[in-house]
Order: sequence, then C-alpha cells, then structure tokens
Amino acid sequence: MRHAIGIDIGGTKLKGGLVEETGRVVFKESRSSPAGSQTPGPIVDALIGFANDLRERARGLGLESEGFGFGPPNFFEGPDWIQRQVNNMPGLESFALRPPLAAALGENIAMDNDVMNGGLAEYYFGEGHNYDRVFFIAIGTGIAASIFIEGGQRIRYHYGWPGDTGHIIIDPHGRPCTCGGRGCLETVATIRPIRDFALAAARSKKSPALAARLAGKGDLEPRDVTEAALAGDVAAKEIWDEVGGYLGMALTSYVHIFAPHVILVGGGIAEAGELLLEPARRALAALGSPYYLGLLRGVKKASLGPDAGLIGAAALILLPESLR
Ligand SMILES: [Zn+2]
Repeated sequence: MRHAIGIDIGGTKLKGGLVEETGRVVFKESRSSPAGSQTPGPIVDALIGFANDLRERARGLGLESEGFGFGPPNFFEGPDWIQRQVNNMPGLESFALRPPLAAALGENIAMDNDVMNGGLAEYYFGEGHNYDRVFFIAIGTGIAASIFIEGGQRIRYHYGWPGDTGHIIIDPHGRPCTCGGRGCLETVATIRPIRDFALAAARSKKSPALAARLAGKGDLEPRDVTEAALAGDVAAKEIWDEVGGYLGMALTSYVHIFAPHVILVGGGIAEAGELLLEPARRALAALGSPYYLGLLRGVKKASLGPDAGLIGAAALILLPESLR
C-alpha cells in the first residue's frame, strides 16, 4: 500500500494527515497556522514543522510517506509556486513557496488550490467516482468550484482555476461584493451573510430560538441556524430556504453551462445538509431547462466532508499526473 501526506492550508488552521492510495485517511491532525504573520518565515517554518511531525508519526506506525501535497486557499503560479491573492496570509504574497519546502522535505512535493484538491478527492475517492461530469462546489467563507467535464478532464485556465464561480450574479440590486462587483452568490450564501441573516432574525425576535442563542453566546454562526431549524424554529428554516434558493439559482446557470451529471456541495456550509439542498433543488426545478435538468442525476452533499481537502492534497502525490 502506498501512502502520502496531505496538508490543507487554511486561514486559521493547518489540517494534515496520512492518506492511503485508496483515499482512506490513516490519521489526521490539525494545528493553528501563523496566518497573521507579515513575513513568510513563520508560515514556511510552520508548514515544514507540521509536515515533518506527520512523517514521524507515520514512521511510528511503520508507514513511509512517498511525498507531500499541499492545498492553499489562494492562487499561485509558476514552477516555484509564487503565491498570489493571498488574502488570509499576507506574509506569503508574491513569495516563491516551493524552493524552501523542497529543500526541507525533498523534491516529491506538489501543490494545488484547496478547492481543486477537494474536487479531486471527491472525483476519485468519493461520491464523484460514480459520474463522469462532476460539478463540485465548496461553500464556506467564500465559494469556489472544481469542474470535471469529461473523462477526468477538468476546466483550468486563469491560475489553473475554472473561473471565479462564487461571483456569478444572483441579484442585480444586491449587496456590494468583496470582488468589487454587486449581487454575487458570495454576498448571500457564505458564512458572513448567513450570520447576518441569523442576527437580523434574532434581533427582530422573528426567531425565538436564534434570539435565545444570541443572548446565550453573544454571536451566531451557520451551525446555530441549522440547529434552530432542526428544532422546529420557522424563521431559522426560512433562512436556509432563502440561502438554498439563491444557491439553486446559481446552480441552474452552472447546469446550463457545464451540463454536469451530478452536483456535489461541500465546504462548511454543506453541513446544513437537506436544509440547504432541498430548496436548492426546488429552485433548479423551477428555473432550469428541462433538457439540462434531464442530464443531472443528483444534487448531493459531498461525501468526504472536511477531509476532502487533505485527501486531495495527498492525491496530488498518489495519483498519476495525467489524472490531476
Ligand atoms: Zn463578487
């Protein structure tokens, strides 16, 4: 059995683990990342230290990792992995990350964007392996997609991405977006707007359950909306109906463009499960072209959950280059 170590580089946390060639996670752990650093040194040291610790833990089990795969949440370019648009780790902006990692860890290292890694894992080791054309969308603080179009081929162009799918327009009269545009999907379906909807429902007393939670902990997050909705709170369920409706609107446009056989929804927001997916399916059915909807065999929660990113990072080492 072959093994590799995958490391998912988040804004606040590094998540890493040892992964088998079957995609099974042998072990995983996480630690905080020095994301606030204004220089690359502490971040590079943290990555190398974490990678070495994971390799030692594998050796303790009698297992040897073939190499290390990394998944940052930003763009990068060139053979030296020059980091671009690093919003949550300013110290890495324009830094060539590959040379110091290769010097410390060896040449068998690889990197791709975290959502591309999540999509890769779902395609080869998760629910995506049952389909040819797969649209994987990850929703958290932002929204991005990894799109398999045919025979394992993925759409890649600008920085190796399939475009900024989180910025498809949902409402021309909507909120200004961090991208400089207006009314994007990210302004209504990510962690921040869902928190805003929850706070509004709590403060207006429309949602007694969210009001009680806000009084108890001083803030709200999407998980509170899910738990309140599951406990029968009508206004909390309406928040997911609205967010799912927006998601379904965006998915309709993606379905018309990419004609996927399945849509897999991942990222932290997908933990809402059917509360999010059911209204999204309803919007698709109401808005979509019957022809393209006929090609779509399902809108499902991605199967690998929060491990998809680290499994996909390890898959950069475990899968042949032609499949990545
Ligand atoms: Zn935008």
